[in-house]
Amino acid sequence: MKQSQLFTRTKKEAPSDEVAKNAQLLIRAGFIHKEMAGVYAYMPLGLRVLENIKKIVREEMNAVGGQELMMTTLQPKEIWEKTDRWDDAKVDNWFKTKLANGAELGVGLTHEEPIVDAVSNYLNSYKDMPFAVYQIQNKFRNEKRAKSGLLRGREFLMKDMYTFCRDQAQHEQEYEKIVAAYYKVYDRLGLGDITYRTYADGGIFTPRFSDEFQTLSEVGEDTIYVDEKKRVAINEEILTDENLEKLDLKRDELVQKKGVEVGNTFHLESKYTNALDLYYSDENGEKQSIVMGCYGIGVSRLMGVVAELFADDKGLVWPENIAPFAVHLLNLGENEEAEKIYAELKSKGIEVLLDDREVSAGEKFADSDLIGIPWRIVVSKKSLAAGGIEVKKRSENESKIMTVEALLQMLNK
Ligand code: ATP
Ligand code: MG
Repeated sequence: MKQSQLFTRTKKEAPSDEVAKNAQLLIRAGFIHKEMAGVYAYMPLGLRVLENIKKIVREEMNAVGGQELMMTTLQPKEIWEKTDRWDDAKVDNWFKTKLANGAELGVGLTHEEPIVDAVSNYLNSYKDMPFAVYQIQNKFRNEKRAKSGLLRGREFLMKDMYTFCRDQAQHEQEYEKIVAAYYKVYDRLGLGDITYRTYADGGIFTPRFSDEFQTLSEVGEDTIYVDEKKRVAINEEILTDENLEKLDLKRDELVQKKGVEVGNTFHLESKYTNALDLYYSDENGEKQSIVMGCYGIGVSRLMGVVAELFADDKGLVWPENIAPFAVHLLNLGENEEAEKIYAELKSKGIEVLLDDREVSAGEKFADSDLIGIPWRIVVSKKSLAAGGIEVKKRSENESKIMTVEALLQMLNK
């Protein structure tokens, strides 16, 4: 893509009411547009990053047998009444609306009830299980405070997966398989080393703990206690002597940290399936309860986390896996040569943003740093005289002169 054609522009300032670093940078660089607090639109650069994150999540969920579907955002009240959640006072962040005839609807904030309702058309035998379904879809939550940019949206993108198993043993297998897939997702986003499986409240359905995935960050809203040796943590919310003993953790081996919850997986037992009257027949034709699990990943929150954590004082620094483009090619007055290199890189399948704008070199460099594409390539009289192009990694300070062939070889690695 040519930057002269990109309709977004970089900005010197973010909106004055935007206090979160991730959103300030993403807005200034033209990745997102702030519609209102906690509600952001994705511009072309931002959508590229979001799609790259979705692709990683999708690949890892598919790899453990997940089948992708898409549920609806509008949900009838009746299915939520069956589980007593429609009027549950604990669910205080639900957007609700009405049809013209007065019938009440919920706006999707999670999907356990609708999923069970849909699955009940197809599931009746032990032979149908185990299976896992998931979606990547906008969720709506009327969050009280939405001041953290993409980290806390009122409209945000979530991956939610649901498993259906014939018994507890089968459920445990599915559950651990999916947890392993979660680690792969965080690894591929460059967050593996700082993301901890964290014991947390299991919710109202089960006496068991849930597993949160907490990425260490000073901007995190959760306080967690990390056991470095075991590479696990426990959320402050459930930090009691009794729980420490149950989990075989010792208080004096734990270090207090701040974390951002980037995922959460739950054991749901048979709470929803029983309430919605979904059972299966075993080998003897006897009616049995289904064991369910649910598994969330904050897709748009992850984009905010990566933006926030990897940024430096000049701007965004995208990991190669999710960057909007692989290469930012800056043309400093060498149109013909730059166009040639642009065409060659594109023909080799490399995604390039060519800065062909009629602006100063200083502005091009500053914008390139702000946008944060992993490789910056400069074509100038000076670079050509030195024998090629000047190549610099966004995350490093040193640049090197090399030929286009050498660059291609390096990018292929
Ligand atoms: P939180 O405690 O941060 O409010 P939650 O526990 O209510 O989150 P879950 O219902 O577990 O959230 O949702 C699954 C995942 O979706 C979370 O782990 C998080 O990564 C993401 N998520 C939840 N709420 C938001 C939000 N308001 N904005 C962005 N991502 C969110
Ligand atoms: Mg959670």
